[in-house]
Amino acid sequence: MKLHPNMIDGDWVEGAPAPNRNPANPAEVVGLYARGTAEDAARAIAAAKAAFPAWSRSGPLQRHEVLKTAAAEILARKDELGRLLAREEGKTLAEGVGETVRAAQVFDFFAGECLRLGGEILPSVRPGVGVEITREAVGVVGLITPWNFPIAIPAWKLAPALAWGNTVVFKPADLTPGCAWAIVDILNRAGLPRGVLNLVMGRGATVGQTLLDSPDVRAISFTGSQGTGRRVAEASIRVMRKFQLEMGGKNPMVVLDDADLDVAVEACLNGAFYSTGQRCTASSRLIVTRGIHDAFVDRMKTRMAALKVGDPLDPSVQIGPVVDEGQLGVDEGYIRLGREEGAELIGGDRLGGDGYFLAPALFVGATNAMRVSREEIFGPVASVIEAADYDEALAIANDTEFGLSAGICTTSLKHATHFRRNAEAGMVMVNLPTAGVDFHVPFGGSKGSSYGSREQGRYAAEFYTTVKTAYILA
Ligand code: NAD
Repeated sequence: MKLHPNMIDGDWVEGAPAPNRNPANPAEVVGLYARGTAEDAARAIAAAKAAFPAWSRSGPLQRHEVLKTAAAEILARKDELGRLLAREEGKTLAEGVGETVRAAQVFDFFAGECLRLGGEILPSVRPGVGVEITREAVGVVGLITPWNFPIAIPAWKLAPALAWGNTVVFKPADLTPGCAWAIVDILNRAGLPRGVLNLVMGRGATVGQTLLDSPDVRAISFTGSQGTGRRVAEASIRVMRKFQLEMGGKNPMVVLDDADLDVAVEACLNGAFYSTGQRCTASSRLIVTRGIHDAFVDRMKTRMAALKVGDPLDPSVQIGPVVDEGQLGVDEGYIRLGREEGAELIGGDRLGGDGYFLAPALFVGATNAMRVSREEIFGPVASVIEAADYDEALAIANDTEFGLSAGICTTSLKHATHFRRNAEAGMVMVNLPTAGVDFHVPFGGSKGSSYGSREQGRYAAEFYTTVKTAYILA
């Protein structure tokens, strides 16, 4: 089987082969990927540093063309890349292809942004002086990504980083190197100069930590768990670098008595269980008011029983496997815990076959104080929490350390408007699942979910550029 090497300073560099396994059939090796070392990471940082002066001063057209070419190739290969994604991460083929299309759209969007980076010219308060405000590239940027969106998250970090003239060391999650490798290969062939984009696959504790410890890495964009996010923050403060963290969620979906039951149930099913619940924006707390509670639970039960869990490449399957054995153990542990805490369990059975298949699990009669309602599980597990009325539902929704996404299902304009203004979350959804966002608008959360400026859309410029104010005596 061919080894997929790392990309350092424009060269493919071999390393110890690490097999990438299919969670639907762990005996199946999807590919062999080089496991980088701390030395590889250090060389990649040095190469990115050397490439920065020329790339940051390159014309926007050069960067535009690279990103546009990459977008076109990703789109043209969406079925093949979507299939690779489904095989390495376990999402369904439809989800994998959809995510791949989104990655192409992100590159396409930032190809345009290369040409639109503007500034401001203002008169100074001093006569005869002009003021010019411009945005410049930051320097070497470290990108550290999780396994759950293996092509979209790398795309939404790589595209703005490169568009605005930064050079990059990219460290993808060790569980999903396949999509990362493919995207780097595509960008490299699209015409990036040597050293501009470096890929070092491998362990967080070695490759990732080398990025954290290097003062030459001037910014780190991280998506992953809170624990690792804290390490990124602490290490970054030590060397006074810019950093941006996108972390977990415990996203509430409020369902009010006046909701359209069909809309609410479909939004909750999608938000809680699609992508096997492995989305930072998943709805893991379904907060349902008394009048609709029993009808909602009954309908959820019926719809959950009809969901097909299985091989993600089978087009009739809606929910693929859990990503690996470790995450499966975590999910099953929380399913046991929820019962011990006194909630009634619907579903949640470990299913047969060699893969890590788990039926969606719903806890009924849960409270917001239970650990299953407070801690991020990151699997197909959700709690139903009954609330007396809208005010209590809103209070429960906000009673969490997280603040990524929050949703409400209601036909009341008054409650929808109040919730939009008062939900403590970076993203609010009305009659839509808490997961599922557009690529051209800001993404991110509040409280313990995010730190730093927003990702995606034009707001990404806050992170990937730095502002310069120049004074000119005319
Ligand atoms: P993780 O924190 O274990 O790993 C994320 C990345 O950090 C991986 O590439 C990993 O190798 C790397 N890493 C680990 N230790 C490191 C270290 N010491 N130094 C540097 N890098 C290190 O998270 P995960 O399990 O891959 O992803 C799941 C988590 O990601 C969940 O908590 C989920 O909510 C979160 N997530 C958040 C968002 C968001 O935008 N808010 C999106 C997707 C996933």
